[in-house]
Amino acid sequence: MDRDRILLTPGPLTTTLRTKLAMLKDWGSWDADFNAVTASLRSRLLDVVHGQQTHVVVPLQGSGTFSVEAAVATVVPHDGHVLVLDNGAYCKRAARLSQMMGRQVSVLAFGEDEAVSAAALDERLATSPGITHVILIHCETGTGVENPLVEVAAVCERHGKGLIVDAMSSFGALPIDARSVRFDALIAASGKCLEGVPGMGFVLLRQAILDSCAGRSQSLAMDLHDQHVYMGKTGQWRFTPPTHVVAALSEAVTQYVEEGGQPARLARYADNCRTLIDGMAALGFRPLLRAELQAPIIVTFHAPAHPAYDFRRFYEGAKARGFMLYPGKLTQIETFRVGCIGAIGRNEMNQAVQAVADTLREMGIPSGAPAR
Ligand SMILES: *Cc1c(COP(=O)(O)O)cnc(C)c1O
Repeated sequence: MDRDRILLTPGPLTTTLRTKLAMLKDWGSWDADFNAVTASLRSRLLDVVHGQQTHVVVPLQGSGTFSVEAAVATVVPHDGHVLVLDNGAYCKRAARLSQMMGRQVSVLAFGEDEAVSAAALDERLATSPGITHVILIHCETGTGVENPLVEVAAVCERHGKGLIVDAMSSFGALPIDARSVRFDALIAASGKCLEGVPGMGFVLLRQAILDSCAGRSQSLAMDLHDQHVYMGKTGQWRFTPPTHVVAALSEAVTQYVEEGGQPARLARYADNCRTLIDGMAALGFRPLLRAELQAPIIVTFHAPAHPAYDFRRFYEGAKARGFMLYPGKLTQIETFRVGCIGAIGRNEMNQAVQAVADTLREMGIPSGAPAR
């Protein structure tokens, strides 16, 4: 097969030919032409969440986690106290990196198959006045749960606490309105729902808190305030930018706007998700989450109960048929995940289900049904 395999993973993901072609050019990082690409990209990223009046956006080299780390280092004072709303693997990662940077960290834990609760946060903040910032993962990619951003932001605002949102796997697809939802920092990256290639993240910082962020980061490379000030003065990134990644993301955002922006992207992903879940259900598979918790980003399925099931063989079978699945991230039960995002539509989802059906047959597994 000379077609690239379809990536059913939450980043890197399948990109369009136009996005790939945008990388076939070398740019000078100091040159006015490249600075114009960066400036236009920053402005259009703010547009995605209607943030022109309230926020600035600061891009940063590296994978998404680099930007989460940078946001915490830039926004939370050294003597700050972070409360992480934890319902999965990415929440635990945010707690760990905050702790490693020397911030005091508390965790409010929820089950992995439920959303975090704004009411529980409200109670906790009422009894823990020392907490300065809350970290919320908007879509917990470890399972696919959508967490209640609007409600959590309202509770944080009422208590006067800062809010840091990891919107890595939701930005561009799920609605986020910076005009009505108050957050201090919101983090996303190039290689997720905007359908660019991996290599850079970006953080939206609330203008009202910008000045207080000066000199706070203990890391030179990850100081978002410094990156912001330098970019404002020179139009350039402080250190070598991932030029090809920036060009690809700029082209991907152009296509995002052409498609119809956030509502159109959400509609396509929701259709992908429905097609996937319905097709898999017909094969006997059952998703981990109740429908109302499921974000149309990535779906966790229970592994089949049949003794012949083995994730490695299942994965290789789907891969040989052109589709890359994703391992599960739960420790207690055996699962696997299938992404709904990327430059793919209903046809690819139906083909993926067919590839899974053929793989099961090859493995001698009559049904994908999990253990009761
Ligand atoms: C992808 C993702 C990240 C960043 O992961 P990297 O591997 O560093 O790109 C962080 N949080 C969430 C929720 C994600 O989906």
